[in-house]
Amino acid sequence: MPPKRDAKLGLNRSITRRDFLYGMPALAGLLAACRAERPAGIEPGYRVDASAPPGAPDLGPGWYGPGGVGDYAASHGNTPEILQAAHGLRDGRFDTLVGQAVDTGESYDLVIVGGGLAGLAAAHHFRRLDGSGRCLILDNHPIFGGEAKRNEFLVGGHRLTGPQGSNDFGILPQTGGPEDYFTSLGMPRDYEYLEPEGDAARMRLPLDNYSFLHWKADNFDVGYRFGDSGAARSATAGLLRNGGQGWGRDPWSPASLAARWSEPLRGPIARWRDTAANETEAFRQGRADRPASEIGPWLDAMTVKQYYEQVLGLPPEITAYVDPILASIIGLGCDAISAWWGWHFGLPGFQRSSRYNDITIHCFPGGNAAIARYFVKNLIPGAIGGPAAFADILQGAVDFAALDRADSPVRMRTGATVVRVEQRGAIDRSEQVVVTFVSQGEVRRLTARRVVMASGGWMNRHVLPDLPASHRAAYESFHHAAFLVVNVALNNWRFVPKLGFGSCLWEGGFGFACNIRRPMRVEGWHDGDGRAGAARERFHPDDPVVMTFYVPYYSPGASAVDQGKLGRLELLNASFRDIERALREQMVLLFGEAGFDPAYDIAGIVINRWGHAYVAPGPGFQFGAGGSEPVADVIRKPFGRIAIGHSELGGHQNWTGAAAEGRRAVEALLKG
Ligand SMILES: Cc1cc2nc3c(=O)[nH]c(=O)nc-3n(C[C@H](O)[C@H](O)[C@H](O)COP(=O)(O)OP(=O)(O)OC[C@H]3O[C@@H](n4cnc5c(N)ncnc54)[C@H](O)[C@@H]3O)c2cc1C
Repeated sequence: MPPKRDAKLGLNRSITRRDFLYGMPALAGLLAACRAERPAGIEPGYRVDASAPPGAPDLGPGWYGPGGVGDYAASHGNTPEILQAAHGLRDGRFDTLVGQAVDTGESYDLVIVGGGLAGLAAAHHFRRLDGSGRCLILDNHPIFGGEAKRNEFLVGGHRLTGPQGSNDFGILPQTGGPEDYFTSLGMPRDYEYLEPEGDAARMRLPLDNYSFLHWKADNFDVGYRFGDSGAARSATAGLLRNGGQGWGRDPWSPASLAARWSEPLRGPIARWRDTAANETEAFRQGRADRPASEIGPWLDAMTVKQYYEQVLGLPPEITAYVDPILASIIGLGCDAISAWWGWHFGLPGFQRSSRYNDITIHCFPGGNAAIARYFVKNLIPGAIGGPAAFADILQGAVDFAALDRADSPVRMRTGATVVRVEQRGAIDRSEQVVVTFVSQGEVRRLTARRVVMASGGWMNRHVLPDLPASHRAAYESFHHAAFLVVNVALNNWRFVPKLGFGSCLWEGGFGFACNIRRPMRVEGWHDGDGRAGAARERFHPDDPVVMTFYVPYYSPGASAVDQGKLGRLELLNASFRDIERALREQMVLLFGEAGFDPAYDIAGIVINRWGHAYVAPGPGFQFGAGGSEPVADVIRKPFGRIAIGHSELGGHQNWTGAAAEGRRAVEALLKG
């Protein structure tokens, strides 16, 4: 790439340096916390060899990229350290070290492996059910939250946020029951969002990063561009009547259909948009009264692609259109995912109207990181500064030392990778579980009366030597997909009103969709350098904003296992620079005509790579293959004093599902 082109793309601009400077205090705080005094009785243990095995991605300084500012600056997506430890675990490099672990002398009523929403919910319910029990959460990241973390930027005195993964939520019913988290955690139920101003006044901009993709697209200004948006990975380009030049709106209006799609495709597209799966002849098989309850097992026996192309007779171009939308919410595209999920998500061809129509989908600043912070504030009040008010919980600095105080009934140790969880003695008579973990470069162990594994199957398989054969076999059906979330801080978004939309989908090149969100109004939001200031009152195109790209990795035609591997290979082998370049080029292609200039308009970029972002549930996952027990139900059975509870067991991962799995796991152990 000639340097002149690099300069035009802004690749010579020092976003790295700016983020480094702003990020330093937080980073220093984190490092200090990681080096905090070791619990009494721990002597220096065996150093862990972190060298990467041959063939592993190059995780050198050019890999991770800048992390923005604030408490999350050192933890955006998979960290290099976590990848090294995870690969070491997979390759058995801890096997000998486990026997030499330093005993910390600690013993807990419950240890939870994983500080994501499932693990935090497990701790919450443990406190509810056993108020006097002592509990420790171990998480391998520098900060809690799992996939529910955020990125922060400081641009022109504005503190901006974007989700690292999990972004949206709906308001749960006020039941006062154990899963009424809004009540038990004290989360507000009413939210307001800033209205766009200036040239953007009256623009319909979404509140979250998902609903514009399909479910609520009619409510927002969404641009669509197919066939010319980047290096062709384009399945539909050849069929576009006008070559797909330029942006279009409402791709399914009769005029758009006529303009964009060739004659043979128009009829099937109309049918696709007006079909309900339970009314198809294939489902009814001549029985007009076939019970609706049979729709699940029927659809779960095939993929979305099989349903679209073989049951509905749709052309593959429609499957290709749905692929990235599906992959964005459940990991892989139509040829890997069970058709049950097409019904569950209310996709065209399955249901005529979306069940999300009447639900307001919300997004906190920085997404569902806020929910994780509410859990933590409730479990360990001193860990997040300030009173338990909304803005303070969202923004208060994390006191990393307070997370792990010996006198606290709930403790959390971050930067601790669990490498072995093993029951002492025979599983059915075991009284104790030994938990071995790596922390501060040393291998340590402690004991627990019970353990919840709120970690995913790709780790659990290697960490649990007692895992029953049934569980091990069930895990064979858990295929995980890679995902990338990129948050781009912009100095302004003047190009958005010029285009007429703030959300868009395209085909080919880097990613497939991106958007800006209307910010939630938060009284007491701290701007600038973190000092309390006035709530942000203006949402104007002249001001900075975050644009978020959700980038799925799927490879139609390959097996689900191989699609996951290929995705991880592509995601993990790219340097930050590779991703930055592809992103900048794509943005020029998409927005250049509206005056977007990457060299001046981009203030910061943070990438969040998730090697195992989602489980991608194939046929049989939800209802069981050929009459067998659903694989998630097998995994849900505790064995001895260990129970597994991670959101992947729900098939489609979401925050309430994560919390439900954490709750179920802890309740099962306490009952047993
Ligand atoms: C890109 C993306 C977007 C999403 N968007 C939404 C959304 O908009 N709304 C929504 O409701 N849901 C969304 N989700 C899903 C939802 O956020 C997740 O299902 C949920 O946050 C996961 O919680 P969890 O606790 O089950 O798992 P995780 O978040 O994966 O937490 C598990 C934690 O355990 C740690 N861990 C694993 N192994 C070990 C070990 N051996 N030792 C120590 N620690 C370990 C992990 O590193 C992690 O921190 C999204 C997910 C992704 C990936």
